[in-house]
Amino acid sequence: MNTTDSPLLDAAQRLHDIHNRMSKAARLASRKPEETRLIAVSKTFGPEDIKPLLQAGQRLFGENRVQEAQGKWPALKEKYPGVELHLVGQLQSNKAEDAVRLFDVIHSVDRSSLAKALAKAMEKTGQRPDCFIQVNIGEEEQKGGVSIDALPALLTETETLGLPIIGLMCVPPVEKDPAPYFALLSKLAKRHNLPRLSMGMSSDFETAIKLGATEIRVGTALFGSR
Ligand SMILES: *Cc1c(COP(=O)(O)O)cnc(C)c1O
Repeated sequence: MNTTDSPLLDAAQRLHDIHNRMSKAARLASRKPEETRLIAVSKTFGPEDIKPLLQAGQRLFGENRVQEAQGKWPALKEKYPGVELHLVGQLQSNKAEDAVRLFDVIHSVDRSSLAKALAKAMEKTGQRPDCFIQVNIGEEEQKGGVSIDALPALLTETETLGLPIIGLMCVPPVEKDPAPYFALLSKLAKRHNLPRLSMGMSSDFETAIKLGATEIRVGTALFGSR
């Protein structure tokens, strides 16, 4: 993936390329480029791979495991002010407190037990990261996310618990056209008056932007393959 001998130039170039593609997709959809935020998903990559992106100005990062993030982000957050850390992976209820302490945004609220654990952790720590509800948009057996049928009840519960839910998140089935799934997530968010949509990864973020994504989660296209 490296095109020069300078990790910093490479990172800046990759970031620039992604922003160009984001702007183009936004223009085609008559949206403003600044309506979509780029989350750089740095899971499996170490500080030496992450630093060039930080130096190139990127501040939004995503991780999928609490423990892995605890190992690398406290030091990076200290060194680079303004970092906003997003948890994009599955969260176990027993890690809710750690997650609430470290992350600024949690994308994967998908069940009652986790919602309760997060509410308790927020109460205890005084930290209130914004949250997305993850929807199992393709109704896949092995995937995380609340089923479409169970979404209204979960939203009622998170409201009762006082969780700061700002939108919906999904990961569509692999090897299928993601567009209908993104469109469905967008429709569900509108129906429930939720303003934000976390959808789109390296292979499909332009489609996601056309269908209303407000946050895209890009790993491979920025860091290379894992
Ligand atoms: C790994 C991951 C991403 C990034 O995927 P790429 O295909 O590498 O861009 C996005 N969202 C979630 C939930 C992930 O786990």
